[in-house]
Amino acid sequence: MAKIGFVGLGNMGGPMASNLLSAGHELKVFDIVPELVDKCEQQGATPVAGAKETVKDVDVFISMLPASVHVESLYVGEEGILIEIDPRTLVIDCSTIAPSSAKKVSEAAAEKGIVMLDAPVSGGVGGAVGGTLTFIVGGSDAGLKEARPILANMGKNIFHAGGPGAGQVAKICNNMLLSVLMTGTAEALQLGVDNGLDPAVLSEIMRKSSGGNWALEAYNPYPGVMDGVPAGNNYEGGFLVDLMIKDLGLAMEAALQTGAATPMGSLARNLYIAHRGNGFGRKDFSSIQKMFLEKTN
Ligand code: NAD
Repeated sequence: MAKIGFVGLGNMGGPMASNLLSAGHELKVFDIVPELVDKCEQQGATPVAGAKETVKDVDVFISMLPASVHVESLYVGEEGILIEIDPRTLVIDCSTIAPSSAKKVSEAAAEKGIVMLDAPVSGGVGGAVGGTLTFIVGGSDAGLKEARPILANMGKNIFHAGGPGAGQVAKICNNMLLSVLMTGTAEALQLGVDNGLDPAVLSEIMRKSSGGNWALEAYNPYPGVMDGVPAGNNYEGGFLVDLMIKDLGLAMEAALQTGAATPMGSLARNLYIAHRGNGFGRKDFSSIQKMFLEKTN
């Protein structure tokens, strides 16, 4: 069993840490919200006073923070912890951040002889709780080999996307495509319904035809068509519109840096921003269906 330092015990990090504890690892934990640390302590983790203490005498260090700014300041800011980390410690950042930030932090780690992986996840809070996350990893083969048994305690699929930052690139490409598929599916379903079709019948036709995609297969946005999805629960739970907008922002940033054209992703981002403006920021991203449902004509 490993000694692990863990920083960021929020919606995702909390249950991920909990799964590591259940697997028998020793955890030192920190979050700026004391209640989250207390909760983890009740499950057997050792609370410490700050991020710097979480890296002392551990085999692996994991962070799960909101965004690039938090990750950069944790590792390379004025009080950055890289300087405190023993080069024998494997560092894994699971936050979804800009590929450029992931590269910057990983290069700073490499200068100190530290192996660092970017390992953003897919699968949401349900996946974090159930230990079924997908990890999309950027970094060295050797680093991933060492990380695999630890990641396997929190997820069921582990992909190696490439070198440092590649995990983040793959994650934002996937989420940009997902946003396009979801908005397109919602648009097509509404067109069919407005022209007299039953949304369940249309969904089944498109699912089995050339328009078939993951939204129709597993996450239908039209209320009443599929059981067990956010559309059947007033779009509660699932993957928040706010988070989709964050990931689309990262995709746009990456596109600007390389000159890539992303017209569909850009349109999807604008639609989601308008949707958030209508009060849907904390709803599941499939609620974009409402934008088409509630049109005025
Ligand atoms: P969250 O806001 O619930 O958790 C982040 C935690 O980090 C919070 O508890 C916060 O207090 C803590 N934190 C912030 N700065 C800190 C610091 N300097 N030191 C210690 N703790 C600090 O967010 P989340 O939903 O757990 O998401 C975490 C990451 O995972 C994000 O990058 C998000 O985009 C990504 N993600 C989230 C989901 C999801 O469905 N929630 C799905 C996939 C990926």
